[in-house]
Order: sequence, then structure tokens, then C-alpha cells
Amino acid sequence: MAFELIPLPYKEDALEGAISSSTLFFHHDKHLAAYIANTNNLIKDTRFETMTLSEIVKESEGPLFNNAAQAWNHVFYFESFSAKRGLQPGGELLEKINKSWGSFEQFKTEFVKQGVAQFGSGWVWLVKDSDGNLQIIKYPNAENPLKTSGLVPLLTFDVWEHAYYLDFQNRRGDSLEALWDVVNWPKIEQRYSE
Ligand code: MN
Repeated sequence: MAFELIPLPYKEDALEGAISSSTLFFHHDKHLAAYIANTNNLIKDTRFETMTLSEIVKESEGPLFNNAAQAWNHVFYFESFSAKRGLQPGGELLEKINKSWGSFEQFKTEFVKQGVAQFGSGWVWLVKDSDGNLQIIKYPNAENPLKTSGLVPLLTFDVWEHAYYLDFQNRRGDSLEALWDVVNWPKIEQRYSE
């Protein structure tokens, strides 16, 4: 089964200020499209052809893992944002955030700090572990929480330079700070409760 490039869940200019329409165009229509095309080429006539994307991520290594994981990560990333500005977490998720980091503000500071600390390309994630606790984890390149059993990914920020260089040049921290305004917290809460 060939994977298709799913349209963004908002207009290309909906995240301006956090992610410009130019960055969204290249990031979605070029980078993500290439990872999906590469994945489709690599699974053709193999045992991976009938698997879902997350199954491929869990079971593959090397170039197929790199492309399939990058495809999965980007879809998850783009679906973490909303055209609605300034949304906030609530309910049990907010309670857990407060318990783990003291406050939502301190959680955001720590998340950005971990994203900035990732040397080179990678991703910073908020995950729920098998005990139901929250953790911030950073991974290099395409790596993600799917390969670790028990981890449920809730939110990710892309720290590859292609994610922010057009808008923020070398200022990775500023680019990550700007994303808080467009995080789709109801969506993150939905992932948390699933
Ligand atoms: Mn990216």
C-alpha cells in the first residue's frame, strides 16, 4: 500500500509568526513529501508493503527506518498545531504537567531547553510512559518513542534546521518558544487519554 501526503489540517499561512507559510510549504510539500516517496519506494515488493506506517517504524532499520520515521514524525508534528492561537492544556494532562515540572511555564522552559540541547538534527518529545508519568525525551535524527515499548508520544517539536532556518536562522530556541502559541492542546489531551 502506498502512503499519500495528507494535506495540512490548517491553511499554509495559519501559523504565521510561529511557522511562516514559506517554511510550511517547503517542510510539508517538499521534505515530508520526499520522506513519503522514499518510504513508498523502499517498501515496494517487500514484507513491509502491507504494514501501517507505525508498524514499519517499529520493525525497520537503516534507510527505511529513517524515511518512514521521518514521515511519521512529521505527520504527528503538523497535527500538533492549530490555527487557533493561545490554546492551553487542561484536565488530567495539566495536573500531570504541574506535578512533574511544578507549573506549565516551567514545563515549557524545560521542553525548549531539551530541544536546544539536542546536538544537530532531531526531535524533542513529550511522552507518557508505562506508569502513566510524563517525560521529556530528545532523540537524534529520525529516532522517536515508537521503538520503545510503553511510551506514548503526546507532542513533538522538530529541531532539524529545515524546520526553522528560513524564519529564525540560527535561533533555534526562539523558534521553539514561538510554537507554544499554536500548539493544539485539546489534540494533545486527546492523545494523552487514548
Ligand atoms: Mn522536519
